[in-house]
Amino acid sequence: MVAQVVDGKTFAAKVRAQVSDQVLKLKEENGIIPGLAVVLVGEDPASQVYVRSKGKMTVEVGMNSYEHKLDVDTSEEDLLALIDQLNTNPAVHGILVQLPLPRHLNEDLVINSIDPAKDVDGFHISNVGLLVTGQKSMVPCTPLGCLMMLRDHHGSLSGMDAVVIGRSNIVGKPMAQLLLGDSCTVTIAHSRTKDLPNVVRRADIVIAAVGRPEMVPGDWIKEGATVIDVGINRIERDGKNKLVGDVDYASAADRAGAITPVPGGVGPMTIACLLANTLTACCRAIGLPEPEGLTA
Ligand code: NAD
Repeated sequence: MVAQVVDGKTFAAKVRAQVSDQVLKLKEENGIIPGLAVVLVGEDPASQVYVRSKGKMTVEVGMNSYEHKLDVDTSEEDLLALIDQLNTNPAVHGILVQLPLPRHLNEDLVINSIDPAKDVDGFHISNVGLLVTGQKSMVPCTPLGCLMMLRDHHGSLSGMDAVVIGRSNIVGKPMAQLLLGDSCTVTIAHSRTKDLPNVVRRADIVIAAVGRPEMVPGDWIKEGATVIDVGINRIERDGKNKLVGDVDYASAADRAGAITPVPGGVGPMTIACLLANTLTACCRAIGLPEPEGLTA
């Protein structure tokens, strides 16, 4: 079997176009422009790139983008004071604090100081609790993007066997909760899982979120399974820098029914879902119905 390629780039462009249409409608009918505030502490090069592209895409869909760049030695008190201001600013509907934070700042404390209704990354403890209990929440962007692609490909996921490899708070755990919410039978595998190959072999849906280049070979994939590769790994091959996922794409594509490439799979969906979450937060804040198809 040769897998269908799940094109995240095209899908993400479609999501952004939907967001953009809704933003225009909000402007015309309600005089409201959704606003996203992004806070970056320090000068981590990868974080700077992410923040720049988030800002650019926020403006492209017609939203307001507020960037707050703070010195690497910013105190916790100053950072919390800024978050407090953003929490009470009615022009700001979404707040994202770019992670990782410098080591002297307590990440949990900072994230939990964001108003949960504006927590567009979905990392606040209240949003985690709401997701686990099946209530309306802000859902972490990367897992939300994976869910959207899976629903688009399969329609219903009910009864499917899903294996999530990785148990991080930002990808693995929320991904598992979303799949459970869509009535999959979910297994979470991790670094201590015994016999990972055979755990993966029984999955109709494989989500790989580990951060180890090409660790899942094709012979772990059940014939016809859907493979969502969240991993982003930089490697050097034939003297060139290359991005690869956690799945060995070539051998997995021979067995899977559908597979996301790296780059061009899950990656572009993450920012698209951040914009979708900001729109959702704005609609909720002003008491309008949530945009259809853009939430979990
Ligand atoms: P993490 O390091 O926080 O978690 C990795 C998980 O993998 C851990 O739970 C660990 O138990 C598990 N693991 C480690 N070694 C393993 C092994 N040998 N077998 C099975 N499980 C193992 O990473 P993360 O933040 O969840 O990110 C995972 C990957 O996804 C990274 O490559 C990251 O860059 C990528 N990522 C991509 C996006 C995106 O937008 N596409 C967003 C977030 C993360």
